[in-house]
Amino acid sequence: ASSDIPKTMSGVIINKNGGTEVLEYKTDLPVPQPQEGEVLVKNDYIGINYIDTYFRTGLYSAPSFPYILGREAEGTLIAAGPNTPGAPSTGSRVVYMGTSAYAQYTVTPAEKTIAVPAQIPESHGAAGILQGLTAWTLIREAHHVNKGDWVLVHAAAGGTGLWLCQLLRMVGARTIGTASTEEKRELARKNGAEVVVDYHNEDLKAKVMELTGGLGVVAAFDGVGKATFDLSMECLARKGSMISFGNASGAVPPFTIARLSAKNVRLMRPTLFNFVATREEFEHYSNELFDMMIKGHIDVRIHETYPLKDVARAHQDLEGRKTTGKLLLKP
Ligand code: NDP
Repeated sequence: ASSDIPKTMSGVIINKNGGTEVLEYKTDLPVPQPQEGEVLVKNDYIGINYIDTYFRTGLYSAPSFPYILGREAEGTLIAAGPNTPGAPSTGSRVVYMGTSAYAQYTVTPAEKTIAVPAQIPESHGAAGILQGLTAWTLIREAHHVNKGDWVLVHAAAGGTGLWLCQLLRMVGARTIGTASTEEKRELARKNGAEVVVDYHNEDLKAKVMELTGGLGVVAAFDGVGKATFDLSMECLARKGSMISFGNASGAVPPFTIARLSAKNVRLMRPTLFNFVATREEFEHYSNELFDMMIKGHIDVRIHETYPLKDVARAHQDLEGRKTTGKLLLKP
């Protein structure tokens, strides 16, 4: 009943951009109320994504301050706003993509909230929805990868990277990954990458050309950004796809399109949100993802589940390249 919903909650706000010192853990934030088209979710597991650090540092602008970070969580649907047909039923376990997830309760659009099938273990919804959908839409829509295709995946042991490796293995592609430590490279190999290169101490382009008979990869999936963009371009085959989907090392500087003509390269800078903009798209890809998880194609790797108040340490670990797989917060 609505009388059971407390008035205040704990959560993490930022009042300005900066390092991890701007993350403020509060215990007296107002519990928000769902309006039309929205639902109220009591979060059990909150997913951390690299994008959260962009909103913290100011690489991406928060709409206003104070601002609650966090784009996804799994929890219990507590209430739906007025005139919100089609929302999952009250009490069901749901996962959503939205904003303001670093809190005990979040109001979020019903359109991007979906019930988690019972066969999916607790926390795997939050560990999977954003990075899993990113990886799946990248290899289906950004560049449709086919069986036998050679592709390049940077940060292959990261959250999104491990999803990419596993989904690419599932579709029969041949993945060349990159990662900074031997432990990470071993993990990426276990998750389906055929070869994993140390991008700091090995000649990635030479390795790619050797493996592909001098042709190059048909697609480069590059979430590292500034540090790897040029290298990715060099590794591409003629008519290949340059898919630049993130900025873990910084934003890619302005680019002259004439460079694409050297190999008739297609360049795309996609975001997940534009692949799953409609309810139909979100449901379609989420159901495919859940199905793959249930069938056992995916080993969901959780690096650590941090108490919400330890969010600064979690951001430090992520930005310090100390993590593999998914970071979660527990309110
Ligand atoms: P990850 O778990 O992949 O963590 C980032 C990894 O990037 C690190 O572990 C590190 O791996 C690598 N890296 C390389 N250079 C740096 C650097 N200078 N600083 C920090 N890390 C570096 O994070 P996510 O899976 O959350 O995100 C990966 C990328 O995908 C991000 O750029 C993110 O913005 C993007 N993304 C984009 C989406 C979209 O819709 N466009 C959606 C989801 C993610 P190593 O040590 O092996 O180099």
